[in-house]
Amino acid sequence: MHLYKNLIAGEWVGRHGVPNINPSNTKDVVGLYATGSGDDTRTAIAAAKAAFPAWSRSGILERHTILKKTADEILARKDELGMLLAREEGKTLPEAIGETIRSAQIFDFFAGEVLRLAGEVLPSVRPNIGVEITREAIGVIGIITPWNFPIAIPAWKIAPALCYGNTVVFKPAELVPGSAWAIVDILHRAGLPKGVLNLVMGKGSVVGQAMLDSPDLAGITFTGSTGTGKRVASASIEHNRKFQLEMGGKNPMVILNDADLTVAVEAAANSGFFSTGQRCTASSRLIVTEGIHDKFVAALTEKLKTLVVDDALKSGTHIGPVVDERQLAIDTDYIAIGKQEGAKLAFGGETISRDNPGFYLQPTLFTEATNQMRISREEIFGPVVSVIRVKDYEEALAMANDTPFGLSAGIATTSLKHATHFKRNSEAGMVMVNLPTAGVDFHVPFGGRKASSFGSREQGKYAAEFFTVVKTAYTQS
Ligand code: ADP
Repeated sequence: MHLYKNLIAGEWVGRHGVPNINPSNTKDVVGLYATGSGDDTRTAIAAAKAAFPAWSRSGILERHTILKKTADEILARKDELGMLLAREEGKTLPEAIGETIRSAQIFDFFAGEVLRLAGEVLPSVRPNIGVEITREAIGVIGIITPWNFPIAIPAWKIAPALCYGNTVVFKPAELVPGSAWAIVDILHRAGLPKGVLNLVMGKGSVVGQAMLDSPDLAGITFTGSTGTGKRVASASIEHNRKFQLEMGGKNPMVILNDADLTVAVEAAANSGFFSTGQRCTASSRLIVTEGIHDKFVAALTEKLKTLVVDDALKSGTHIGPVVDERQLAIDTDYIAIGKQEGAKLAFGGETISRDNPGFYLQPTLFTEATNQMRISREEIFGPVVSVIRVKDYEEALAMANDTPFGLSAGIATTSLKHATHFKRNSEAGMVMVNLPTAGVDFHVPFGGRKASSFGSREQGKYAAEFFTVVKTAYTQS
């Protein structure tokens, strides 16, 4: 079987490969992927450091061309790359192709941003002195990504890092090295100089930890669990480096009496269960006012009956498998906890078998939940959603904000007054009105508040905040 290697200092290296298993069919091995050591990681960081001076001063046309070529190749190969993504991660093929297209759009956006790099020129308060404010690359960036968006998250970190002239050491999640390898291969062939982008696949505790411990990384951008995020933060403070964290969510969707029932059910079903509930922007708390509660639960339950859970590559599948055995055990543990806590299991709750061995779980809906239950406070990261009944909008808003997290929040309502008030008063980084809490554009900022995020926003032009440092230069004429 083919061994996909790490890219270190412009060379493909690595001898030992770990099998990449398809969660829809555990007999299917996607490929063997190299697993890097601490030394490999340090070599990659040294290569990125050596490549930084030239790359940070490279011409904007060179950077534009490489990012544009990458976007074009990803788009041209969207079906094949989408298939690889669905096979290694388990989201459905249409979702996977959609994610692949999005990563092409991100590279395309940052290919454009290279051409829009600008500064400011201001007069000084002192006579005959001018002030220039420019943005410069920060140095070597460590990129650590999770398994749930195997191509989009690497794209939205790698593209701005390279756009603004940084060099990169990229460590993808162990479960999804295939998509990561594919985009690094595309960028490499698009003409990146040696050492500008290094790929070190392998364990978080080995490769990731070696990145955290390095004095030579100027920044780390991380998406993953809260626990690992905290380690990234403390190690980064130790090394006086910039860091940007995207972590969990426990995203509320408020459904008011005046909501359009079809809109509310579609938004809840989409953001609660699509991508197997494995999105940090998924809605896991449906906060429903009492006038619509029973109608909404009945309609959502009917909708869940129509959703097909099956092989991610089969046409007609709405929900693919859970990503692996460990995550499936977490999901089923939380289902048991929900029952023990006294929530009512209104739908699902069981693992299921399909033609091939895989990690299949029914979409699971709890009702009569409270906001204090563990299933309402802790991120599950699976297709498990709880419905909480409330009296009115005021109680719903207070409950939506009563969470340690603050990534995304939604409201289904036809009231302009309540929609406007919710947009202003939600303590989340992203607010959706009559839309799923998940599903965001590639050209606008992404990020949250409280325990969900730390540091400046990702994506769109706001990405410059993390990937550059501002310089203020004074000149006397
Ligand atoms: P999840 O539970 O979703 O897998 P993790 O935070 O464990 O979330 O993983 C997100 C990313 O962080 C992965 O690429 C993983 O390998 C990496 N990681 C895990 N442990 C560490 C660590 N100690 N140091 C650096 N990175 C790590």
